[in-house]
Amino acid sequence: MAKVLCVLYDDPIDGYPKSYPRADLPRLERYPDGQTLPTPKAIDFKPGALLGSVSGELGLRKYLEANGHTLVVTSDKDGDNSRLDRELEDAEIVISQPFWPAYMTRERIERAKKLKMIVTAGIGSDHTDLQAAMDRKLTVAEVTYCNSISVAEHVVMMILGLVRNYIPSYQWVVKGGWNIADCAARSYDVEGMQVGTVAAGRIGLAVLRRMKPFDVKLHYTDRHRLPRAVEEEELGLTFHESAAAMVPHCDVVTINCPLHPETEHLFDAKMIGSMKRGAYLINTARGKICDRDAVANALKSGQLAGYAGDVWFPQPAPQDHPWRTMPHHGMTPHISGTSLSAQTRYAAGVREILECYFENRPIRDEYLIVSDGKLAGTGAHSYSAGNATTGSDEAAKFKQ
Ligand code: NDP
Repeated sequence: MAKVLCVLYDDPIDGYPKSYPRADLPRLERYPDGQTLPTPKAIDFKPGALLGSVSGELGLRKYLEANGHTLVVTSDKDGDNSRLDRELEDAEIVISQPFWPAYMTRERIERAKKLKMIVTAGIGSDHTDLQAAMDRKLTVAEVTYCNSISVAEHVVMMILGLVRNYIPSYQWVVKGGWNIADCAARSYDVEGMQVGTVAAGRIGLAVLRRMKPFDVKLHYTDRHRLPRAVEEEELGLTFHESAAAMVPHCDVVTINCPLHPETEHLFDAKMIGSMKRGAYLINTARGKICDRDAVANALKSGQLAGYAGDVWFPQPAPQDHPWRTMPHHGMTPHISGTSLSAQTRYAAGVREILECYFENRPIRDEYLIVSDGKLAGTGAHSYSAGNATTGSDEAAKFKQ
């Protein structure tokens, strides 16, 4: 019987919710490209419940224990002698969410002698050393598409929030002010702007589709080109061969590619320096795609008019992380993909993956990142081999 180790974020500071603002969730039939939603045989949670925190347990306990497995759930994942490290030795499966990632470094993978599978309850498996997982022939799987639309909605919100100067204006009201000039002095319309996405995968394409009605000019770069019917006829996109070729044309850039060796620190001082002065940069993909200090410096100098996103490196971000205090930012903790709506989908997706694993049925190809010692499924399409976890031990500084 297997030991399943699940690393989840802490419950709300006032305790696990007893009620929710809404009674139910809209029912979705399929994802926009026709992919089916997760199809576990059953679920043991109420859609719309908080599942991603420790007490929510991704709704897995009943199922796992009924089948004789052990479930260990903890939020204690960083620093010396964390519960994650203590429980790892005999764990067969490790599950965590990118919002509160269990950084599965080579060192941890080597110590976990019984480990067979690492599951991302969400999208983005960069917190696992994929090269080490390949070397150990582990399976790495994620719940492709579960929160792509959640993130796309967040990106649109952040573009509007930055360009229209929403957060500082809100703060003037809370402070008791009526400072219209202070609010207006940094506020513009999005209409007519040049908006570009780095990657037009599930999130990037959804952002483009959602921005189209704002009457902006749309740009993209990606490793694979979109079908002509989408690029030309539906969205009227301008394609660029690389991010470097695209960004000088854009007023707003949104980053929607995975973090892997090809994209690590893609937005460094040089790339940001080649953007239009006063451009806005939105990054909900992964913190490490941007150089931390280059972003903070560009906001201070005015090269960037605003930066927003929800992804940091490491996570949780240390108290002294410069993105907490830099000017003109709209950062949140990593939340865009963990709305209650998204949690329902990824908890069901994790259940589907576990059912397949324990019943010796194949895991859907679209959920696979690493299998049989190589990149597989979605991993083979969208990632490059290697490791992006270096420096993750700094997450322990959050506690200090
Ligand atoms: P997809 O796999 O659908 O899309 C990723 C896209 O990135 C693919 O089109 C891929 O290209 C492209 N890509 C990969 N490398 C490059 C590169 N070097 N330059 C340009 N494009 C590249 O994934 P999603 O859209 O669903 O998610 C994207 C990322 O967003 C995730 O990997 C994750 O890091 C992040 N994310 C963040 C969340 C949050 O809560 N903030 C939640 C969900 C995801 P191709 O396949 O054509 O080679």
